[in-house]
Amino acid sequence: MSGSVLLIVAQSFAVLYGLVVGSFLASSIVRIPEGRSSLVPSSCPRCATPLHWHDNVPVLSWLRLRGRCRSCESPISALYPLVELLSALLAWLVCRHLVQSPADLDLAHAAAWALQFGFLAMLIVAATVDIRHRIIPDETSIYAVPVGVGGHAVLEALGYDGWLSIGWREAALGAAMWGGCFAFFSWSALLLLRREGLGWGDVKLAAMFGAFLGTMPGGLAAIALGSLFGVVVGLAATVITWGRTYLPFGPPLAIGGALYVLYGDLIFAFGGEDQGLLSLLALVWSLLSSG
Ligand SMILES: [Zn+2]
Repeated sequence: MSGSVLLIVAQSFAVLYGLVVGSFLASSIVRIPEGRSSLVPSSCPRCATPLHWHDNVPVLSWLRLRGRCRSCESPISALYPLVELLSALLAWLVCRHLVQSPADLDLAHAAAWALQFGFLAMLIVAATVDIRHRIIPDETSIYAVPVGVGGHAVLEALGYDGWLSIGWREAALGAAMWGGCFAFFSWSALLLLRREGLGWGDVKLAAMFGAFLGTMPGGLAAIALGSLFGVVVGLAATVITWGRTYLPFGPPLAIGGALYVLYGDLIFAFGGEDQGLLSLLALVWSLLSSG
């Protein structure tokens, strides 16, 4: 097979894998806040009829059933196909980013793809659950820290040296540093303002960012990007609603993390490793979020 055909095969596999994982993510988004396992077979939440495998095909089943249960006709949330499509899109973008020539088609790059897509997949769940329930699940934050550190150890053992090859020590240090920083902000806000400025869910999410992206530039850039985004959206929402608004911090952070994983190398190629600017952004954010 010629090189371009191999790349198309790899990208097609990434899309299919992303769709299947997206199906699991959508059910996790619904089930984790209810304390139910994502691993038991799917059934209709209204009439409890178990789903056939052919009613469980990502996106297509939802379209064919026109968003309704086959037995009781109750609506099935559009969250399912949307999360499946988003997951497939991210799996494809990470693949396209990491595997740019047939020479990149090796075990090390496949493992790096799995780790980076896994990070983005967990961000989908963290952000969506945060929007719907104002909590960030442990499953997609603090429990993911060993996955990030262990994943980087595997990449190191495989000799991976591409984008985000930070090594397990940097990953462990990143988790400690960013988890520690956010914990410090959270405690400071509690002590000084006597109210919660930064929730524990955000602290655990920051630790997870460190475990996948390292201390800096990775963790710092992702958190600064997410904070900037959160501040802009937060200020706009505050102005529009005259301050009567609550915005979860998980979704903008998740967007910052995703932007860094997919385009971080481009950002640095254009802007140089200007960490002074990024530190400033992080400081601005910490003042705004605790004030
Ligand atoms: Zn039903």
